[in-house]
Amino acid sequence: MKQLVILSGKGGTGKTSVTSAFAHLSSLGDLASKVVFADADVDASNLELVLSPKNTKSEDFIGGQIALVDADTCTGCGICEEVCRFDAIHEDGAVYLVDPIACDGCAACVYQCPVDAITMHEQNAGKWFRSDSRYGTLFHAALRPAHENSGKLVTLVKQQARLLTLDENYDFVLVDGPPGIGCPVISATSGADLALIVSEPTAAGVHDMHRVLETTAHFDVPALVCINKSDVYPKGTAEIKAFCQAQDIQMVGEIPFDVSVTEAMVQGQPVTDFLPNAPSSQALVKIWDKVIKEMQLDGVQ
Ligand code: SF4
Ligand code: SF4
Repeated sequence: MKQLVILSGKGGTGKTSVTSAFAHLSSLGDLASKVVFADADVDASNLELVLSPKNTKSEDFIGGQIALVDADTCTGCGICEEVCRFDAIHEDGAVYLVDPIACDGCAACVYQCPVDAITMHEQNAGKWFRSDSRYGTLFHAALRPAHENSGKLVTLVKQQARLLTLDENYDFVLVDGPPGIGCPVISATSGADLALIVSEPTAAGVHDMHRVLETTAHFDVPALVCINKSDVYPKGTAEIKAFCQAQDIQMVGEIPFDVSVTEAMVQGQPVTDFLPNAPSSQALVKIWDKVIKEMQLDGVQ
């Protein structure tokens, strides 16, 4: 079983368009019915918008703990407000109350309360789902607004995808990674056999590509690069290509700017399925072929 993670240094580079196209293309060849998809962008999960899956299972995600004050026991001494470094406890009349959004779950207040009025409680921070899409099984999740532990939820989503892959003897997990280089990206990248970085030829895009490549190098995950909307700013495209050549990073293709991608998204379809002959679809097929060769999957040409 091998894992491919699709990454980008920032949001809006077309990462999910690429992942959804790969999900479609994986359903056509030797890999048909042997791939599991995982949407690791749990803060803004949108692969499901394109794959239109049907939920078959959903479970709560317990993401840490928060403090709770028992108003009947609280004497209003104010010690907890003083010890809370996250400014999460405030006076409310004769007692003190915890702001659940600001609470970091450190439990310092619990140890300092002289009358044991504060206890820690598990927090329901979101849900994770197993769904059937027209191209295969998708694991995805939704983190509640202002809740943390997205790295833990990414790990859970990937674990579920890997378990199904092992149980069913599938070959391949395709992971739509989160944007950026933070904790959820690290969770999405760890254990991957290969990363595809979707870059865009803007000054910010080039800078963010460098950062995400540093992350994959740190975790010893080999990386390939493709450039989305490569014809929009040729100078930026030339800069990315020169950088990849200098760093010995394989460039697997360029996707031209193509309104078909937006039209496909509006229709809730990968562009390769919506308009197979569109310039972007043809570029994506070539990139997919190169990525699959690089994955060296058994029995796949
Ligand atoms: S430390 Fe305990 S008793 Fe004092 S204000 Fe806080 S909750 Fe109330
Ligand atoms: S658990 Fe920590 S962050 Fe939360 S209210 Fe208590 S001291 Fe503040």
